[in-house]
Order: sequence, then structure tokens, then C-alpha cells
Amino acid sequence: MDEIERAKATEICKNCKNIVVGKGNVSAKILFVGEAPGRNEDEQGLPFVGAAGKNLDNLLQQVGLTLNDIYITNILKCRPPENRAPNKEEIQEHTPWLIKQIKEMKPEVVCSLGNYATKFFLAKGNINDMDVQPGITTIHGKPLQIEFDGLSIKLIPLFHPAAIIYNRALITAWQNDMLIVKKEVGK
Ligand code: URA
Repeated sequence: MDEIERAKATEICKNCKNIVVGKGNVSAKILFVGEAPGRNEDEQGLPFVGAAGKNLDNLLQQVGLTLNDIYITNILKCRPPENRAPNKEEIQEHTPWLIKQIKEMKPEVVCSLGNYATKFFLAKGNINDMDVQPGITTIHGKPLQIEFDGLSIKLIPLFHPAAIIYNRALITAWQNDMLIVKKEVGK
């Protein structure tokens, strides 16, 4: 089975309405990686189109970026039922597709949104090591060089847009972190 077939063989993919591959510009220098599609994303087949997506659109606008400046995808390509958290097996079966996407896109910076995506990269793809990784609160905005499975990426972890909707201090932190991202890619 190739990377895409492996993800499609999971129960969540058999039961979802749409597989959510990504949106934005595949030639962009910045790749955002979220957690998993929610209800709206599943309905529309696109990532970040619900409440978290509206917040992300606002945040991007505030830092002077558009969807043309980024590509955005998720750790899981299908919605887990009732929006439960991704389990280890799902992450294991879905992330080879993510790694393939990154190798094809070759972004200059990968921004992991929130704890799941951040811990996946920090654990270098070892799902069993994700639990012992530092949380987003301590490492957001810090560029890290990560290498595994033939990947070599500059990771800059960011707070998840859904986690900061009503938190002014975290919105300011997100904007400051994006200044670092923009500097890295010369924008
Ligand atoms: N939250 C995510 O992490 N991804 C989406 O696509 C939507 C909400």
C-alpha cells in the first residue's frame, strides 16, 4: 500500500464524508499543519473552514499574509467521529501521507499548529514518544531543525487558532511568532 492508500484504509476514512488533503498554494514557502478535519471541513472537503478557520483567516490577514502565501494541511486527513482526539494508530497510518506532502512541497518553514502536530514533529515521527515532548506553551515561536525519515525541516510551532480565539495575549503571541516565520522566509 502506498502512503495515500494506508490513510484511506483507516476506519475514520471509511466513515468520513470527504478526505481533506489541504488548501492554499503548494508552491508556498510556508506549510501549516493542523490536527484533523472537524465537521465543517468534513462537509466541504477543505481544511480550516469552520470557526478555527475563520480565526486563522483573520490572524493571517492581521500579519499581512493570504492563502497564496501558505499551504495548509492536517496530521489526519479524515475527521475522527465526534471530533475526538486522534489516536496513535490513526496518526501512524496518516502521517506517511503528510511526510510525502512535505517532501513534494519542500517548504522553507513548517508551522505546526497546536500540540498534536508539534509533538509529532518533535518526536521525529515516533508516535510513542509524542507524550513526553514539551507542550506548545513552552516552545511556540522557536525555530527548530528537525530531521527524520528523509525529512529535513525548519519547524516553528504556533498556537492552534482554535485555542486562542478569545485570548488577546495568545493572539499577540501568535502574531509575534509569525514575525519570526516571515523573517525566516524573507517576507
Ligand atoms: N482544526 C484543525 O486542526 N484542522 C482543521 O482542518 C480544522 C480545525
